[in-house]
Amino acid sequence: MTWLLSRLLMALGAALTGFIVGVVVRTASGLDQLGLVAGAATAAVLMLMLDAVRGHRLLAWLRGNQYDNAPRDTGLWGEIGYRIERAVRDRDRAVSRGRLELAQFLSAIEASPNGVLMLDAQEQIVWCNRVAADHFSLDPQRDLRQRITNLVRAPAFVGYLQAGSYAEPLVLGNGRGPGTLSIVVREYGDGMRLVLSLDITERVRNEAMRRDFVANVSHEIRTPLTVLAGFIETLHSLPLTAVERDRVLTLMNQQTQRMQTLVADLLTLAQLEGSPRPAPDRWVALDGLLARIAADADVLSGGRHRLQLKPQTHVELAGIESELLSAIANLVTNAVRYTPDGGDIEVAWRVLEGGNGELTVIDTGPGIAREHIPRLTERFYRVDGSRSRETGGTGLGLSIVKHVMQRHGGELLVQSEVGKGSRFRLVFPAARVRQASDSALGDEAAFNAAALSHH
Ligand code: ADP
Repeated sequence: MTWLLSRLLMALGAALTGFIVGVVVRTASGLDQLGLVAGAATAAVLMLMLDAVRGHRLLAWLRGNQYDNAPRDTGLWGEIGYRIERAVRDRDRAVSRGRLELAQFLSAIEASPNGVLMLDAQEQIVWCNRVAADHFSLDPQRDLRQRITNLVRAPAFVGYLQAGSYAEPLVLGNGRGPGTLSIVVREYGDGMRLVLSLDITERVRNEAMRRDFVANVSHEIRTPLTVLAGFIETLHSLPLTAVERDRVLTLMNQQTQRMQTLVADLLTLAQLEGSPRPAPDRWVALDGLLARIAADADVLSGGRHRLQLKPQTHVELAGIESELLSAIANLVTNAVRYTPDGGDIEVAWRVLEGGNGELTVIDTGPGIAREHIPRLTERFYRVDGSRSRETGGTGLGLSIVKHVMQRHGGELLVQSEVGKGSRFRLVFPAARVRQASDSALGDEAAFNAAALSHH
């Protein structure tokens, strides 16, 4: 109520001025009425002028951008100015808080791994994040306010959007490549729609791989099972001579072994996938491994090949012994199995520039055509299915090798030329290779020699 007080004071001041003017006019003119009129008019004009000046100042401030303070007049006009200023400042604060919240909100959606696209009732793009722009090949700025169906023309998408029933997500092949999107639409507000897109390429590929894998395993198991069932039937229903019986049982034994190897390889793969990475400080003597592998290879080859499988490397590798053994043995066994009689098979070791170690298995076998090489490590991939199966192959050997090498931070490299032979190289990272100390090597070698002589 301070404004009222100062307004009263102002009126009082005007009245006083009017009174003085009235007295002066009356004294000068001698007319009572004229003095009265002049006094009242002066007081009224004075009040009006003061109000006009202050009102004008306030209006001028209001017409501007209100960045500076409202005029600090006393009384009513000052009070009005102050109140307006406060309301304006409150509104400004609310607007900028809203803007900040909106910006934060949008950047949260921007950070989402999903594509987010907002459409108005006319299917025009109101907003989209970068992921959505990428999924639908849109330009987040230029394409705003454009109809989405003019930009994304895939019939499946247009049909889905316009059908209006969004219970099931739409799975859409991504236009830019072999990728796949899962698209979900939600309606909100007044005819607005939210389009969420998720890149499920990886998932689709994994599912396909899993299906293929199960189909392959079933197929691999079904074949020997069918053969076994046939033999059992034969044993049941036909009177066989002892010789025939023996032959059937031998064949049955082969099929059983085939399934056993397959299951063993599958278990190895499952184990490789499920176990932690090999520790970098468990050292395995390479020469010991090679001695064991060479002994097995001798048996498998039965003297049909010239074998040189035991270079004296004096090296230790950091990793899991059973896995390293399995990787190298798979390569050596393959070389023996695929190389025709009289061929040469050799294992060589060298340390590469930079300290990486390289173990190479070289054969003079049939070699592998270039187009097959990138696919050799796929599960169940075989260049020559019948040769692989004849020699007890499962089609899983090289995928096991690749897996083991990956887990040990190394890699499997294949060089081959049809008719000339193959070279399978295992490259181990420098950190997992060290020169064996003599005593440790001696122990290991002695242990292996003892173990071998027991067999
Ligand atoms: P498999 O059990 O069939 O041998 P692998 O995964 O070990 O399965 O090998 C995949 C394919 O690579 C084999 O089927 C064979 O065709 C080819 N292969 C592997 N090693 C050799 C080799 N040393 N010489 C020629 N071909 C090979």
